[in-house]
Amino acid sequence: MRHHYLQTMGITRWVRRESDPVVLDDAEPEQKPPVEAQTELVTDVELTVVQTPDSHMVDELDWPELQQSVAACVACDLHATRTQTVFGSGNQQADWMIVGEAPGAEEEQQGTPFMGQSGQLLTAMIEAMGLKREQVYITNVLKCRPPENRDPDADEMMACHSFLRRQIALLQPKVILAVGRVAAQNILDSTELMKDLRGKVFKYKDSGIPVVATYHPAYLLRAPTEKRKAWQDLQMAMRIVAGEQQ
Ligand code: URA
Repeated sequence: MRHHYLQTMGITRWVRRESDPVVLDDAEPEQKPPVEAQTELVTDVELTVVQTPDSHMVDELDWPELQQSVAACVACDLHATRTQTVFGSGNQQADWMIVGEAPGAEEEQQGTPFMGQSGQLLTAMIEAMGLKREQVYITNVLKCRPPENRDPDADEMMACHSFLRRQIALLQPKVILAVGRVAAQNILDSTELMKDLRGKVFKYKDSGIPVVATYHPAYLLRAPTEKRKAWQDLQMAMRIVAGEQQ
């Protein structure tokens, strides 16, 4: 069964060979510099104009309240172009939390993360681990779709930050799998490239919740030879959930 899903992932040679060379030059596409937050010049002081939801208030919300708060959010410009928010899907008691970047067109239309082509590969990755999509919790750093699927801006990520933080606090997963550079850098508060973030176990802020970073399925669709490394990351996350690794 697992073999079938590994094949679906496009992975045909998954038998571990100790002599496999370790390739170190794996990089997701060039890191783009963070987009400047909008600024407004007031006399001689530059003020950053980013509305964020009151994070103390967000930290008190339960799941339904949090979802309502996301649906009503107007903290950044994305609210003006969205048709609906994409909060998250799956099991709200899951051991696994998978965090991507932002919804695309199909996700926005369906109100569910990872529904398009990269969602199909993510589903295959989940099933390769012996899990069903419904057994994990899936969400994104951003809950609204950036137009033309551009990368999220720094101010958009800042505006959405307290929502993801609250989702993590409510779920208390055994592992957070951050897929792609944007999610990994956001969750780990890092500017390092994916090649330096993957293959390691981090802890989420002050919580002690383990974080594993791996390649985004959209990247794996473009660079299928990297799937072997993604599978190594998934196996590491599986050992963490099984209590075999910290
Ligand atoms: N890519 C993401 O990062 N998230 C989605 O929900 C869909 C595609």
